[in-house]
Amino acid sequence: MSDSDDNANNLPDGQMENGHVPMEVEPNNSAERQSGSARSHDQFDIDLPTSHRYLGKLDNVSGCAFYDDGEITTLAAIQTNTLVFPGFTLPLVLNNDLEINMLQRHTQKKNAFVLLTPTKDFKSVFAYGVIMEIFETHLRNDVLYLKARSRQRCQLVPGKEIKTLVGELYQVTVKVMLEPPITSPISNTQLNSLKLRARFKCTDYREFNKYRKYRQYHLCQYPLATWVYDKHEMCFLRDKLIQGLTSYYLIEFIPHDPVQLSFWFVQNFQLKHEERLKIMKIRTAIERLRLELRYLNMKRLICCAKCEAEIAQQNNVFPMSKDGVQSNYCNPGGYVYETVTVSKATNFTLIGPPSAQFSWFPGYSWTIMQCKMCSSHLGWQFTSANLKPDKFYGLAKNGFDVKIVTEAA
Ligand SMILES: [Zn+2]
Repeated sequence: MSDSDDNANNLPDGQMENGHVPMEVEPNNSAERQSGSARSHDQFDIDLPTSHRYLGKLDNVSGCAFYDDGEITTLAAIQTNTLVFPGFTLPLVLNNDLEINMLQRHTQKKNAFVLLTPTKDFKSVFAYGVIMEIFETHLRNDVLYLKARSRQRCQLVPGKEIKTLVGELYQVTVKVMLEPPITSPISNTQLNSLKLRARFKCTDYREFNKYRKYRQYHLCQYPLATWVYDKHEMCFLRDKLIQGLTSYYLIEFIPHDPVQLSFWFVQNFQLKHEERLKIMKIRTAIERLRLELRYLNMKRLICCAKCEAEIAQQNNVFPMSKDGVQSNYCNPGGYVYETVTVSKATNFTLIGPPSAQFSWFPGYSWTIMQCKMCSSHLGWQFTSANLKPDKFYGLAKNGFDVKIVTEAA
């Protein structure tokens, strides 16, 4: 659970699994696609990493943690350098007896805790977090293994202190943030008589076009051309974002639901920490998609966090997990690594021989990667003799920085 660099262990952990299911999914990178197709190896099953089987067999936790919009609640809290948006999972390993007892006591009635994240300068706690629901847990040899799923975003209630319970476990009072219903930005200005005849769904472009005639009647009272208002509709922003993302990802990986898409983007597109924080606090999906569309148009590079040497390009990222290109993994020391998978990397050296002893990606061996220029830890090279792709890289989020090369027009 600790996030200090002292505790950072360079080893991905977990037990080796050899089982894999062939799957008709190809990496999104075209060069990788071509090199992979020459071999008759089985495609890696991207469902495997999300199950976090390296944690061993865990027991299901019954019940769900769901709060009303605006509800104020007091919960245990954990802070990591990672961010988990609603719908995504976080594995955790707790070794400290006091922390384990305290967390178990606090999650007996409500199987939930708050995940906190640092501010952009990493010096204090960001005012927004997420409520995590624990869905699997197991205490083995005095070590607590658990998996939690992000459910709802929340905001720290101003004026309420962040109380330290023990070690890195806190208690916080938060206000729950629910997604407001998706509506057209102009829906409140529509005449009632037209509203009855033009009930288009603003998330569906086909519906949108079907009622275009009524929309034009409605919009003729305003000074600007119709297309100006169209560009602010949910279906326009969603389709535009999906269209842009298909340069990097296969369309079947991209969710079409606007809310899910707005969270998936953060989990899959390489953003700076402060950009992710900005998206985290935006209440509506329509505003998040608008900002994400701006971020999508900025050219980015993945660079060493210490010396800024180029490590990978944005189009080198590809998913090795159903959660996307960016997932959280945990080692036996409890250190959570947010890891981004890329098909190609440069400016690195490998340290030591490949090891199959532990792996977050069942069937792959790992080798530690260091920056060629400054020797800081970057992540791991994963290789397999019988799986496709036969090689990829898992870059640790705390080892690299996202550099914006060109700003959006
Ligand atoms: Zn470096």
